[in-house]
Amino acid sequence: MLDTPCKACGSKEKREVHHFHAEWADANGIDWEKMKLLHPSFHWETFQTAEDFIDSPYNMMVLCEKHHRAPNHGIHHLPYPDWVMQMNKLEGFVFSPDEVKRDV
Ligand SMILES: [Zn+2]
Repeated sequence: MLDTPCKACGSKEKREVHHFHAEWADANGIDWEKMKLLHPSFHWETFQTAEDFIDSPYNMMVLCEKHHRAPNHGIHHLPYPDWVMQMNKLEGFVFSPDEVKRDV
């Protein structure tokens, strides 16, 4: 995970980790029995507390700062189908107005 590039753009600049399947803010509301059904490949035999899942590599997604937290691009700011479009877009496709190159 230490050398993993951003999942969205492949950049290795300003990398952060995103809690993908479960965030700490939701820890008290998670039904772990449901999570076991949704994530059968997680090593549940090691699970004792919420931390074991939430801070596990299984739950982490490496993202650059832009695709994690930036307005118009960050996974914390966009609906998931919109966010994932950034991974699938054609070269040159303008996803957000801040990507328009302007002559100065
Ligand atoms: Zn990125």
